[in-house]
Amino acid sequence: MKPEILTPCFASVHTLPGIGPKTAQLFERLGCPRILDVCYHLPVKVVNRKWVQHVSQAQVGDQITFEGVVTNHVPPKNPRQPFRVHIDDGDVTTELSYFKASRAFVTKLAPLGARRLISGRLEMYNNMYTMSHPDFVGECDQRDRWLGGEVVYPLTAGLTSKNLGYTIQRALAKLPPLPEWLDLSFVAKQGWPGWNESLRRLHGPKTESDLGPQTPARLRLAYDELLASQITLSLARRHYQKGRGQSIVGDGRLRRAALERLPFSLTQAQVQALDEIDRDMAAPERMLRLLQGDVGSGKTVVAFLSMLTALEAGHQAALLAPTEILARQHFATIEPLARALGLEARLITGHLTPKEKQAVKDALADGTVSIAIGTHALIQVDVTFKDLAMAVIDEQHRFGVRQRLSLAEKGRGVDLLLMTATPIPRTMVLAAYGDLAVSFLREKPAGRKPITTRVMPLDRLDEVAQGLERILARGERIYWVCPLVEESEVLDFAAAQERFLYLQARFGNRVGLVHGQMPDLERDAAMAQFRAGTLDILVATTVIEVGVDVPEATTMVIENAQQFGLSQLHQLRGRIGRSDLASACVLLYGQPLSDVGKARLKIMRETNDGFLIAEEDLRLRGGGDILGTKQSGLPDFKFADPFFHGDLLETAAQQAQHLVAQDPGFTQNPHLKILLHLFEKEQALRQAMAG
Ligand code: ADP
Ligand code: MG
Repeated sequence: MKPEILTPCFASVHTLPGIGPKTAQLFERLGCPRILDVCYHLPVKVVNRKWVQHVSQAQVGDQITFEGVVTNHVPPKNPRQPFRVHIDDGDVTTELSYFKASRAFVTKLAPLGARRLISGRLEMYNNMYTMSHPDFVGECDQRDRWLGGEVVYPLTAGLTSKNLGYTIQRALAKLPPLPEWLDLSFVAKQGWPGWNESLRRLHGPKTESDLGPQTPARLRLAYDELLASQITLSLARRHYQKGRGQSIVGDGRLRRAALERLPFSLTQAQVQALDEIDRDMAAPERMLRLLQGDVGSGKTVVAFLSMLTALEAGHQAALLAPTEILARQHFATIEPLARALGLEARLITGHLTPKEKQAVKDALADGTVSIAIGTHALIQVDVTFKDLAMAVIDEQHRFGVRQRLSLAEKGRGVDLLLMTATPIPRTMVLAAYGDLAVSFLREKPAGRKPITTRVMPLDRLDEVAQGLERILARGERIYWVCPLVEESEVLDFAAAQERFLYLQARFGNRVGLVHGQMPDLERDAAMAQFRAGTLDILVATTVIEVGVDVPEATTMVIENAQQFGLSQLHQLRGRIGRSDLASACVLLYGQPLSDVGKARLKIMRETNDGFLIAEEDLRLRGGGDILGTKQSGLPDFKFADPFFHGDLLETAAQQAQHLVAQDPGFTQNPHLKILLHLFEKEQALRQAMAG
């Protein structure tokens, strides 16, 4: 139950004056159905528009409003080009450009011969004044509305920043005065305003800098948000770990036997990670540990050896992977080892026939099979275990919280080991999981040669292709990666297909192709051929990104590398350098090459250290989206940005742990419940109240 004092915050927007059902719908579409959502809808910028008679009187980069006559429509020649509209202001022509716009839309907005008022940011392209997606094109009598200082909000069609701003002010006025939930002396020391006042300030910026991440108002709200989130994570952890765990201690018999059969000895990092996992498993609470190791650092072996502990103690273990390729690969690694130890491992994926699937399910349910490896098929409700005690989730960020839990719920107090090959900077781990136990595999297995990375323009492609002869002559294998084209899988496929034909013309039937549009079976077949060495060159889209392990592959060419994110490039590159052979990665870049693109390629050339790359990735993106917010399990923060607010995050995490340990029911500071409601953490509150 929400505290009564918060009732106005959660009232619908249509309780505000001037908001009818239609406008209320627009607010809903904006993601703001209630007063509180409206108050959380933050401005993105402050602009000062100035009037110019002629565009030539303005500076490039200025926000201007002007009038002119529509003299020309230039439809795009291909879908990548914009629809262009020419405007003559009696002095020069300015070109307005609209990407992905229909002709109907443009002709309605700016009919040929009409006089139009135009407002937007002036740019210069090919020596011509341009404006890309102007903020306004319409009747000239609107001039006054498009001049002067203006707070700009993210919008939805049908709403303008002006009427949105007006509604927001009304909404702010409805917010009740609230008691302070933060420590008063802490707030005073920071010089922060209260929650209410902070929101007011964020909606009344005078200049751009008032919107920055370091203003007292922003810091205050960011802290509130981080604190609410960290308290939630701490409570959830407490709740999860209290869920009957069990102490799992093996006798080391299976692990010893497995180690004897491995063709290598463990790295120091692997030994240490295993120690940490053993200790967690032996503890009576449930394990929740993240194993971070760069690609090729040897996580799979660690996972397998940990699973054996569960088996030694008489339980079952499971390994969940996000893709069929990965699941098969883990199976290929683990199954022979398991068999040699007299254990039975089974693969369960979407491709089993109903009969095969039933057989696996029966064997897991009656305990004949002690190790299950699989994809999403493994977490379906009809899969049950006799006694699942330990589960590993590979590439854990590819699974939602619900999916991770549904695996954990297939046993009693299941110990969970999460794995990721995308190193996550500490602030990100903290933001996404709270104070999660983490093991690192920083050190690569001995004997690995570092990968040499070269950066070259795309027009040297022929030369690069020619260079592959030498690599093939040495009996080594090659990945050729084609990028995403316009995020369209169809075009994506076309680019890969074209490159495939080009390489096939040169190297004949030693070239294979895998892409996302392919039926899984065909793709697996091509992968298998590449692994077996029937194919030497594999042209691929990013489907080979995670986990694929072909030690003989020593060369990777990545086309249009500038289009990939840093972490993704690193993931891709991790497919090579997986043996004691020297490996090389060629990054081919096309134009245009942005500054960020250039910086990325430079980092790739300079380092192979995944942790460093992850930090740089974070820096280049300015916070935002390290694994793709949705995939990382990172909460979608409104006020906080873990990149800018790392210190606040640390403080909030400490505070939250302290709080949850000392006063999990909030009896000493009941106002914290208000905070949790303001960030919609009802679930956490229920757990808190349940004790
Ligand atoms: P990750 O899953 O971390 O990307 P893998 O577990 O797939 O890495 O290991 C990559 C390769 O290294 C595999 O072929 C594996 O057998 C091998 N490997 C693992 N640990 C060691 C080690 N300590 N010494 C040598 N090779 C190892
Ligand atoms: Mg792996």
